[in-house]
Amino acid sequence: MSKLLIDGQWVEAIGGETIDVIDPCSGLAFTKIARGRSADIDLAVAAAQRALDGPWGRMTATERGRILLRLGQIILAHGEELAQLEARDTGKPMSVARADAAAVARYFEFYGGAADKILGQTIPYLNGYNVSVVRIPHGVTAHIIPWNYPAQMMGRTLAPALAMGNAAVVKPSEDACLTALKLGELALQAGLPPGALNIVTGYGTEAGAALTAHPGIHFATFTGSPEVGIQVQQSTARNHVPCVLELGGKSPQIVFDDADLAKAAPIIVKAIVQNAGQTCSAGSRLLVQRGIYERFVATMSAHFAALQVGTPEMDLDCGPLISARHYDRVSSFIADAAAMGVPKLAEGRLAAGIPRAGYFVAPVLFGPVPREHRLACQEVFGPVLSVMPFEDEEDAVQLANATEYGLVAGVWTENGSRQARMAQRIASGQVFINCYGAGGGVELPFGGVKKSGYGREKGLLALEEMSTTKTIVQHYA
Ligand code: NAD
Repeated sequence: MSKLLIDGQWVEAIGGETIDVIDPCSGLAFTKIARGRSADIDLAVAAAQRALDGPWGRMTATERGRILLRLGQIILAHGEELAQLEARDTGKPMSVARADAAAVARYFEFYGGAADKILGQTIPYLNGYNVSVVRIPHGVTAHIIPWNYPAQMMGRTLAPALAMGNAAVVKPSEDACLTALKLGELALQAGLPPGALNIVTGYGTEAGAALTAHPGIHFATFTGSPEVGIQVQQSTARNHVPCVLELGGKSPQIVFDDADLAKAAPIIVKAIVQNAGQTCSAGSRLLVQRGIYERFVATMSAHFAALQVGTPEMDLDCGPLISARHYDRVSSFIADAAAMGVPKLAEGRLAAGIPRAGYFVAPVLFGPVPREHRLACQEVFGPVLSVMPFEDEEDAVQLANATEYGLVAGVWTENGSRQARMAQRIASGQVFINCYGAGGGVELPFGGVKKSGYGREKGLLALEEMSTTKTIVQHYA
């Protein structure tokens, strides 16, 4: 059974309760995690504050950076172990889990290297004054982590927070948190002082809600559903605590008639089936210009028909969905679409020999999907791609921007002026032109507009989110 990490010690939850960890491939419990609640969160927040008041708070930026760089190396050395754990916990194919483990190491390398390169400003002011603006940590940062990429998401928010000198309390998802706990163990090995990182597992409505509402935190970052995002904003607002929200998307892939279709097709397929579609930046809407619609849909159908779903060891295109609840949700989207007569163009298949009780769903290509249908505007978070035709550039922009989300977009055209116009007019936090892949780029600022959330993670901009400024005005005679 896993414990909580508080003040550098592994401890049981005060209530002594546990939560079963379910293998999504079999539907069976294979271990337990501690069920932390508000009393455990109190201890974790207090430990984080003590770390800030102690050696961690006094450490130089260079020393912090060294610890993070060391952690990056340790993660690389434990890459296979982390990948095995992530695959067991989430069901994802081993090759995806291995790529995830490598990406986590990159976060600590990138922000470890950046820790002592964060510069302030001086401002010319009145005669006899020195004015400087310095970047300072928020203090205690709260991290609510989702289940889709548990290790990567932890690295993504934790590494810049620690680089800036914050002390963190992490609440990983009850549906997948084993790699988060492993990262805690590795962080201690790297020399992170007690209390700089605390991890409290438990349910969102218990440990998560207690953390975001805690008067002792100074900043919160949340990745998950828009509904819970509203609750996080409400509870942090009560203490005037700023937050960064990453709430998913309905990202369009826009294919014009002059696109390199052979190049585009496999990348577009991967962007929706990777991690069984449980990716906030999944390209879940395929918008195709009318002139090439039939031809491209035939190509995409052939790709979809060849997709296979299996266990991590089979290492196929997709694994299972994360939980029975999520399986029911995604299945209801697919059943509704079929019942409402939306044509199913192609479907992948479940590999022979997968456990019957697992949460496996075959990837589906639907089209043409009516523009007002829920498949055209709501996030499924499963391996379901909705195809819609468009007439011209103006129509493509209208359709691309016609959802409440705005996280990522892909534009496929060889026309350079059109590339620039589309990049400018699409409402989203990232635009990829003749490529796609938000997940890989640790260096690339990431985050949404509209209901995809606000604030930026990744890249150097994350260091600004994870800090605030102090203006120091010195008068000299
Ligand atoms: P969720 O929003 O309920 O959970 C995400 C995290 O928030 C978990 O750690 C959970 O414990 C925590 N949480 C839940 N309630 C909380 C509360 N009141 N206060 C603080 N923390 C709380 O997401 P879910 O139920 O796991 O998934 C539902 C849907 O959310 C998915 O179908 C998908 O559409 C979306 N989702 C998006 C992302 C993303 O990357 N943007 C990730 C996961 C889920």
